[in-house]
Amino acid sequence: MLNRREILKTALVNPWWAAEPYAQATRGLPPLKIREVKVIATSPRPHYSWVFVKVITSEPGLYGLGSANNAYLSWAVKAAIEKHLGPFWVGKDPERIEDLWQWTHVRSYWRNGTITNVAQAALDMALWDIKGKRANMPLYQLLGGKVRDAVPLYAHASGETPEACVENVQAYLEQGFRHVRVQMGGGGYGGGGFVPPGEGSRPERGFRGAAFDEERYLETVPRMFEQVRDKLGWQVKLLHDVHEHLTPTLALEFARRMQPIRMFFVEDILPPEQIDYFRQIRALTSTPMAMGELFTHPHEWRPLISERLIDFIRCRVCAIGGITQARKIAALCEQFGVRTAWQEGGENDPVNQLAAYHVDLTIPSFGIQEDNLFPEDVHELLPGTARIRGGYLYGSDGPGLGIDIDEGMAGRYPLVDDHRNADWTTVRGMDGSLVKP
Ligand code: MG
Repeated sequence: MLNRREILKTALVNPWWAAEPYAQATRGLPPLKIREVKVIATSPRPHYSWVFVKVITSEPGLYGLGSANNAYLSWAVKAAIEKHLGPFWVGKDPERIEDLWQWTHVRSYWRNGTITNVAQAALDMALWDIKGKRANMPLYQLLGGKVRDAVPLYAHASGETPEACVENVQAYLEQGFRHVRVQMGGGGYGGGGFVPPGEGSRPERGFRGAAFDEERYLETVPRMFEQVRDKLGWQVKLLHDVHEHLTPTLALEFARRMQPIRMFFVEDILPPEQIDYFRQIRALTSTPMAMGELFTHPHEWRPLISERLIDFIRCRVCAIGGITQARKIAALCEQFGVRTAWQEGGENDPVNQLAAYHVDLTIPSFGIQEDNLFPEDVHELLPGTARIRGGYLYGSDGPGLGIDIDEGMAGRYPLVDDHRNADWTTVRGMDGSLVKP
């Protein structure tokens, strides 16, 4: 039996933090450094303008992947990382995620920009990926473990007529989706409320394309939803995206008209410049509101969450600075009874999708995740890309984010700037003036 003196002596020689289990858990690895930051820019489809960051560490074979997705400024993002931020990250300690996040945030002095946020997000995802690989655990384990078994998704249904919309929603329900977003009509982006090209009263030698008319929108979209409810009942959870096309007072009127439909949410009823109107919408109707896919700054989401003016926050994980920022927003949401609905979108990539997935699995304030189905060759390019089955998203369960990239294959699809990505943001009215996307 050891006496007190001997116990003390043993403790000094072998303190708790040098004990065997801890050494085993960290595998006695030497301190890490970021050795190289590689930018992998690739376009496996014309509308995919993907910029990935591979953060390579001093430990042989240990690296992390992150998404710097901004399909509208992809070349600028690439240059920002290659010329400015990448060299700044080299030599830093990749274990200190929060510190390096904060440091990067102030590195460019002006912060919360659309380029700096995605660059910061790519680093953040890559560092979480590295930490997960080091621990040999899927990232969701490091974030506190699962609070749900898989991530429910909402699907995107559309149709030229209410009948076609009903049919399309039905098809998704048969696939197992419980949540379906419905957009009606051709014409411009988002559908609904467009006067066909050339029709109606147009200025001489003026705009001839499909023109948005908000009264037409107000008349057709709620009626379409009445038909969907009528045919499919109350089980399906219905969503709709206004794409910010309405002026504030008609946005109020639209929210009021949608109340009897009992929506899961109505999204982007106002442009970011008019978010103060959410106070009036809240006072007028109980239609649940989702907002935030264009947000890049805490001053945008904080009042809407803390004043309980919206029901779902819809930021894109890479657009706000990555997993670190998304978790903070989720924690804020939890305090105020708001839920998350991270944005996806057709031009988004599998790395950003998985970043959202790992956050979704671990947060009580999760609401829903937008779906994004990738073609098979993307699964080949990025092995471990999440799979959608029966309306749920499943990650690979590999360590970290659980995804890798075939750099040789990425090199065969050089980055292109597809102007269709930018074209869809342009919507015009009858007189040729811009309508906010
Ligand atoms: Mg939207």
